[in-house]
Amino acid sequence: MAVPSLQHEMDSETYHMAVRQLDLVADRLGLESGVLSRLRLPQRCMVVSVPVMMDSGETQVFIGYRVHHNLVLGPGKGGLRYHLSVGLGDVSALAMWMTWKCALLGLPFGGAKGGVQCDPTTMSAGERERLTRRYTQEILLVIGPQVDILAPDVNTNEETMAWIMDTYSMQVGYSVPGVVTGKPIVIGGSLGRREATGRGVVYCVQEACSLQKLPLQGARVVVQGFGNVGSVTAALMHELGTRVIAVSDVHGGVYHEAGLDIAELLKHQREKKTVVGFPEAEAITNADLFTLPCEVLVPAALERQITTDNAGKLQCRILAEGANGPTTPEADVILRERGIFVIPDILCNAGGVTVSYFEWVQDLQNYFWTETQINRRLKQVLIKAFREVSAEADRAQVDMRTAALMLGVGRVASGERVRGLFP
Ligand code: NAD
Repeated sequence: MAVPSLQHEMDSETYHMAVRQLDLVADRLGLESGVLSRLRLPQRCMVVSVPVMMDSGETQVFIGYRVHHNLVLGPGKGGLRYHLSVGLGDVSALAMWMTWKCALLGLPFGGAKGGVQCDPTTMSAGERERLTRRYTQEILLVIGPQVDILAPDVNTNEETMAWIMDTYSMQVGYSVPGVVTGKPIVIGGSLGRREATGRGVVYCVQEACSLQKLPLQGARVVVQGFGNVGSVTAALMHELGTRVIAVSDVHGGVYHEAGLDIAELLKHQREKKTVVGFPEAEAITNADLFTLPCEVLVPAALERQITTDNAGKLQCRILAEGANGPTTPEADVILRERGIFVIPDILCNAGGVTVSYFEWVQDLQNYFWTETQINRRLKQVLIKAFREVSAEADRAQVDMRTAALMLGVGRVASGERVRGLFP
């Protein structure tokens, strides 16, 4: 079978990793080559240059991306990331994982993702706003509530979504809340969306603990990344009576064996913009954090953090993947041999896209739900998905990641088959 060669820019480690994962389950599912070759590549990639007037008066041009991996099950859905490492390959991998995640959860979306190569931490609010608005303008043709809906990801938040919603609405001439999710409540955001990813991680950990007969009370939890996903996960795990003994961010980590006071840590982080320097805790590096003895380890930062270099040294019972793609396929083999129970990313962090779906539905209907309704429905959706994955793992005698991918990829492949190939 002739596979089109990847453009140099697509040629990223993360993209190759996503394709390797797909190939592994394609074999198990016996996917026909025509379907597999379509799923290995994104359906559509848009690369844009984004000129921005900086505060200095100079114009700086940034590179931005929006990728639709596969839209067979519905409009594109996926986050927007601002990071210096953003490239076409990484964004395509993240879009591919969104495709499997939405299918696994039974959400009527395809997979998409976007990014701008920039370091927003060094930019003023005005520069970030001009960047966001111009990026939105450049990708306007490929987004919309029936086309592709954006959401926050690394280094983007509610404010970013509000700017995108406003720019899009200005262009079409009326308010279109459904073009983004994760926006402020006052303009059509959903209650519970900000916490949804972390809340979903916690629901999955609870399920995994009961499956593994591991008591949650007093269990030691370690979290890498203290942003949206990591900080909410840590706070909710703390509320459940676990001991969150270490957390980190890009600047470093803090460790306290008796358990960190998460409310105080959040205050410290808001003031200092980092967890580093938190009193009543020891400093710890991101590398050492991974090897701490604990019951639950939650990577909630970036891709490819658990590799063959450190997979043999992890000392957790459960690895709950808050981040997308934190574990390489080679590391997966080691974790499997060592009996570490992995809650795979496309299941573990799917709370975010699930409540994004609820937000989109609320926006389209102009009818808003209570937070209790949202959290109850989120729990139902995630627990159902967790149990389906666990049952598939038992049935096919595979690990949780393989089972989750088999269900997600299998549903997309079915969609491809029944829709057929146009023209
Ligand atoms: P965020 O920007 O809010 O937080 C990222 C955190 O990771 C920050 O604390 C940052 O300092 C830290 N970090 C960055 N690089 C690091 C490094 N090299 N070592 C240690 N820490 C580092 O981002 P987020 O929205 O919390 O996203 C985190 C992960 O979760 C990403 O993989 C993202 O794709 C995934 N995710 C996010 C959502 C969501 O709803 N926001 C949903 C699903 C998956």
